[in-house]
Amino acid sequence: MGATGVVENKENQQTEESLNLFTSTQIVIKDALTKLGYSDEMFELLKEPLRMLTVRIPVRMDDGSVKIFTGYRSQHNDAVGPTKGGVRFHPEVNEDEVKALSMWMSLKCGIVDLPYGGGKGGIICDPRTMSMGELERLSRGYVRAISQIVGPTKDIPAPDVYTNSQIMAWMMDEYSRLREYDSPGFITGKPLVLGGSQGREKATAQGVTICIEEAAKRKGVQIEGARVVIQGFGNAGSFLAKFMYDAGAKVIGISDALGGLYDPNGLDIDYLLDRRDSFGMVTSLFENTITNAELLEIDCDILVPAAVSNQITAQNARNIKATIVVEAANGPTTLDATKILSERGILLVPDVLASAGGVTVSYFEWVQNNQGYYWSEEEVIQKLRKVLVQAFENVYNTATNRQVNMRLAAYMEGARKMSEASRFRGWV
Ligand code: NAD
Repeated sequence: MGATGVVENKENQQTEESLNLFTSTQIVIKDALTKLGYSDEMFELLKEPLRMLTVRIPVRMDDGSVKIFTGYRSQHNDAVGPTKGGVRFHPEVNEDEVKALSMWMSLKCGIVDLPYGGGKGGIICDPRTMSMGELERLSRGYVRAISQIVGPTKDIPAPDVYTNSQIMAWMMDEYSRLREYDSPGFITGKPLVLGGSQGREKATAQGVTICIEEAAKRKGVQIEGARVVIQGFGNAGSFLAKFMYDAGAKVIGISDALGGLYDPNGLDIDYLLDRRDSFGMVTSLFENTITNAELLEIDCDILVPAAVSNQITAQNARNIKATIVVEAANGPTTLDATKILSERGILLVPDVLASAGGVTVSYFEWVQNNQGYYWSEEEVIQKLRKVLVQAFENVYNTATNRQVNMRLAAYMEGARKMSEASRFRGWV
């Protein structure tokens, strides 16, 4: 394995990739609805979001100029309840990606049985090049632009890629000012002092850890001593690395956008956590780095893509050496690659199940905001474990009983509730 530390430029592929994300989501939803015995009309309803708002947000920049940013909010299906989903700040955000992400949120909410439908938002921007003041004005401008279609009983945003609890706090404050009453239930992922939930920050990684434990039991893999590789060292990847490290696993590879670190004897995760920046970057501090492509093909027991989409494709799926692949990121494995991994007997735990810990604890945060009574971290983790162990079992049993791969089984579990709710409402 070389030590090149290559920066991968993915910008040119983005449009095609995003279209694939959207269309491949539609393909699996169609398959899931057919397996569940629903009509084509149900697919017509669920194949696109019910609502998609595009907004233009003028922001005064620090140098006095005004820059106009484009943002989106997509609401896939609100038959079950208000829509729910994060807001992403990224230069490569686009309409199809936001639409696909909102559809996945619907599926996730169905899989973990929350009283929500799926939503998602995004702003085309690069927060890494913006000051705190510019980010605050952009966050507040976005809330003003989408305020008519969001709210604690309509659509509840949350953090996603390159957004955090500070951004949620500004957004909550802006919404509360607009409505003229305190509205903590408008958004989740807030700081604790503003009604955030204990355990929210680590919830996605906690959920991925629970799914890894469940998958390991089914594959006879011991977590203690297991060789783990994690792509991405941001919110999801870094906390997951810590959970695995503390559980006695050997985390032999991690990466960020610039490259990866590999040590067959196990990396010192506490040291890396200490050195990483707030954007999940750490590899630039090292000389002997590998590429993200090389990282994915490392010989290991558990591989967790926790960064960006379309990482395991038909091109590299045959070279994946892990026994278990758990998707912490949204859409890291293409449909062709899913088929190849499944044929090779690799247990793939799909994104809509594996990364549902974040939305589950977001739901707990909203419940606590609504009742004005707050739970301890132990209580939150206990409740999360119960939800995810059950969800994993449902998906695994559907996969086994219906002889389908875990992704299709998860989509069947995810689509069931919103389809039933849409039917009872008389929409289809
Ligand atoms: P983050 O912004 O905190 O971290 C992203 C990490 O990925 C960083 O280490 C970054 O350097 C790395 N990265 C960026 N581009 C990359 C590339 N081209 N190749 C390799 N690494 C790259 O994001 P996050 O919150 O950890 O989210 C990661 C993934 O998990 C996303 O797909 C997100 O949608 C998904 N997810 C996150 C949450 C959550 O609660 N954080 C919940 C559900 C799903």
